[in-house]
Amino acid sequence: MTCIECNRNLSYIDHKNSMDNYGVELCVQHQTRLEKVVKKNNTPIEAIKLYYGLKNAGVTPMLEWWDGKKSIDLAISRVKLNIEIDTEYNIITHKQAINDLEEAMHSFKNGFTTIRIPNVVIKYYLRETVNNILGIIEGLKVNIKAI
Ligand SMILES: [Zn+2]
Repeated sequence: MTCIECNRNLSYIDHKNSMDNYGVELCVQHQTRLEKVVKKNNTPIEAIKLYYGLKNAGVTPMLEWWDGKKSIDLAISRVKLNIEIDTEYNIITHKQAINDLEEAMHSFKNGFTTIRIPNVVIKYYLRETVNNILGIIEGLKVNIKAI
């Protein structure tokens, strides 16, 4: 049991707390750091799981990236990909839906692609989600080269 950020050995209780709170193995120091980010931005736990899932797959995402207007759950800057985790997609209002569309439009105009992923998809299909994002990154890379 070691911290996936710094490889420090974890005690049983640190390991348990970290797994219960974030679903990944983190030392106290890295848990505290993450806790600050989560509290400040109301980050869903699935964003953290996906963040580490992508890191495991060799991608370097940024957690809670500030785009100048708002904080993006996950961003992969190399291919200008923004990932937002939807936590209340089943009760989405028409107001929220049009806001999402407008945000997507703005980010496209700035050369960014935004995808929205329901949190349950990450909860039940983390590996498949990571694989699909890897595919999207590949596709975006090809498009960037084409320009
Ligand atoms: Zn650590």
